[in-house]
Amino acid sequence: MNLQRDRSAWLHGPPLVCQSQPVHPTHCRRLVLLGPPGVGKGTQAAFLSATYGACHLSTGDIFRTARQCHSNEQSPALHEAIAHMNEGRLVTDETVLEIIRERTTCLSCRGGFILDGFPRTALQAEALEAHLGYEGVSLDAVINYELPVDELIVRISGRRLCPDCKAVYHVTSRPPREEGRCNTCAAALIVREDDQPDAVAVRQRAYQESSAPLLDLYAARGMLVPVAAHGLPEDVFARTITALAVWH
Ligand code: AMP
Repeated sequence: MNLQRDRSAWLHGPPLVCQSQPVHPTHCRRLVLLGPPGVGKGTQAAFLSATYGACHLSTGDIFRTARQCHSNEQSPALHEAIAHMNEGRLVTDETVLEIIRERTTCLSCRGGFILDGFPRTALQAEALEAHLGYEGVSLDAVINYELPVDELIVRISGRRLCPDCKAVYHVTSRPPREEGRCNTCAAALIVREDDQPDAVAVRQRAYQESSAPLLDLYAARGMLVPVAAHGLPEDVFARTITALAVWH
C-alpha cells in the first residue's frame, strides 16, 4: 500500500486547507513517535505514513519550512521558534501550542496521523490528550525508538535532508540514487542547521531533560511501545510493525 498524503496544510498552516481524502477507517492510525534526535523518527514516520495513509506530522518540518520563507512572511511565533531551533534549544511550550492550535484540523483528521517531534514535553502531551478527548478519539500507541548515544552521533553526522520535499537520506545507510540530489525532486541535499556538532550536543541534552517525564507519562498509561532502532531503516520498520502487532 502506498498512501502518501498532502502535508501542505500542516507545513504551512492556515489559510491552506487539506485536499487529501480520508483513508478507510480500518486503516486509521494515531501514533506518536518518540526517541532522541538522530534516532530516525522522520524516516520511520515516512514508512508508517506510506503504509497506513496517515499524514507524517512533524513540528520540526513546520519550523524548517518556515525558515525557508522570508522573515516578514513568518508569524512572530514561527520567528521565535526558528531562533530556538537554530541553537538546538527546545521551542517554548506556549509557542509550540500556538502553532499546533492553528493546525488542529490535522489532529482531528479521520485519516489519523503519525506525530513526530510533538509532543515533546508533558505539557504538550496533556494538550494533545485534551484535544483528542474533545474529538472522542485516542492515540493507538506511542512508539519509543531507542539507540545508544554514540550510534546517534554517527547517524546525525551522515544525515542529509531535501529542503523541498523534506525526504531524509543518510550518506551510508540510505544514500540517494545520485550523490547529493533528492530522488524525488532532484533538489540539492543539505545538512540541517541543527545537525551541526554544537547544536547536536544541546539537542541531545534538551531531549534527555524533556523526554523523561513524557516517557513516564505514556508508560503509566500503558501506551509505550519500545523499538530498538539499530540497523537499516527497513529493519527498524519491520521491528516497528511487529512490535505494534504484538502490542495490540
Ligand atoms: P526535530 O526535527 O523534531 O528534531 O525538531 C527540530 C527542532 O525543532 C528541535 O531541536 C526543537 O528546537 C524544535 N522543535 C520541534 N518540535 C518541537 C516541540 N514539540 N517542542 C519544542 N521544540 C520543538
